Amino acid sequence: MSDKTNTQELPYCEPYKIKMTEAIRTSTRAEREQWIKDAQYNLFKLRADQTMIDLLTDSGVGSMSDRQWSALMTGDESYAGAKSYYHLRDAVQNIFGMPWFLPTHQGRAAENVIFSVLLKEGDIVPGNSHFDTTKGHIEYRRAVAIDCTIDAAADTQAELPFKGEMDLGKLEEVLKKYPKEKIPCCVLTVTNNTAGGQPVSMKNIRETTELCHKYGIPVLMDSARFAQNAYFIKMREKGYENKSIKEIVREMYAAADMMTISAKKDGVVNMGGFVAMRSEDLFRRAMQFNIMYEGYITYGGMSGRDMEALAVGLDENTEFDQLDARVRQVAFLGAELDKYGIPYQRPAGGHAIFLDAKKILPNLPKEQFIAQTLGIELYLEAGIRGVEIGSILADRDPVTRENRYPRLELLRLAIPCRTYTDNHMRVIAAACKNVYDRRESITRGYKITFEAPIMRHFTAELEKA
Ligand SMILES: *Cc1c(COP(=O)(O)O)cnc(C)c1O
Repeated sequence: MSDKTNTQELPYCEPYKIKMTEAIRTSTRAEREQWIKDAQYNLFKLRADQTMIDLLTDSGVGSMSDRQWSALMTGDESYAGAKSYYHLRDAVQNIFGMPWFLPTHQGRAAENVIFSVLLKEGDIVPGNSHFDTTKGHIEYRRAVAIDCTIDAAADTQAELPFKGEMDLGKLEEVLKKYPKEKIPCCVLTVTNNTAGGQPVSMKNIRETTELCHKYGIPVLMDSARFAQNAYFIKMREKGYENKSIKEIVREMYAAADMMTISAKKDGVVNMGGFVAMRSEDLFRRAMQFNIMYEGYITYGGMSGRDMEALAVGLDENTEFDQLDARVRQVAFLGAELDKYGIPYQRPAGGHAIFLDAKKILPNLPKEQFIAQTLGIELYLEAGIRGVEIGSILADRDPVTRENRYPRLELLRLAIPCRTYTDNHMRVIAAACKNVYDRRESITRGYKITFEAPIMRHFTAELEKA
């Protein structure tokens, strides 16, 4: 938006001002040592006010706009046919071009509804790094998720514009190996959260769909950060420079047969999600599960006011300036880390920085949970809470019950939308540097003393190894 007639370009500033603030609590290292011990060394088990900067997730913790807050007041809480439902339905149709949709309380609930229709025991679901809840829903039904992400995604130092993509060769192998009846869908996640918030190009979206359709397999887009993905397409893919984010989103979804979404991310609401599809028949089959697990089909898991806030959020956050501010802040944190030479998944992702824990703590054995150890150290250092994307998250193999050790051990620092300032980013980077400086002395990790059979990371208890 710079005035090109000016000889001196102005620096960048955010396209919003702040109307409300929330105080942050600071603490001493001694307090944090006690608190993390009391939390059995699981960052999920800390109280939020025991953290100074909370980067556990960007989910449901972004700051809503004044228009969203005012939309809350217009919520229609009627059980059936609320006008808020129709507002959200119009937004879903306009933005994604999906004619049928069912509201749910969040993304995993949308997965539950659609997988209840689609999946049976022994089925195969290929995808580009299935998200943990997605994989959880697949494995819980005794189906198998097969990861077909490009190999380059596992090399944190490789700078690729679209590092979250599907490897079409790997995908075709799966499609050839199993009969069509065993593959109810292929899951394409945009952006690819698990691989570091890395985008998927329009070309890869199109080619994935063409390949799947050739084999008669429908494509489900896991859409939590669809708008960031569209932003990266605009910024990085030839031919899209002059298209609006909304045009790009429509083109992305023209390729999909159905979608699930956690609206808590790019919808910038505290709670909400939905499943949407092109097929009326599929919608009819999904309805009953929505009613059983979520609520009646015109509210699912959402209150009327939340549907209103989401309708506005979807519209606002598919505008370039909002996305630009968000992605720039993540890149800013990346640039600060670069000053100290701290390794992370490159380039910076859309919603988070993923520190490369194996590179930062090379002296720890994988059995002692490297990324978790880094997360605890960063918390002890400055009260900053990240989240482990490593072998605790990877769970055990459902058949052998052995621990799964993924190629990458990452500590994700998720940046909530419009919540922290660049000064907070500077503090985060400086705290990372302090941990990095004393990395040689971090030689002892953790062991698990309690774990749930599935999605253990949320509730696991640990002690020093
Ligand atoms: C967050 C997320 C989900 C699950 O959504 P919830 O709202 O947390 O239930 C699914 N897929 C992806 C890619 C996500 O980021």
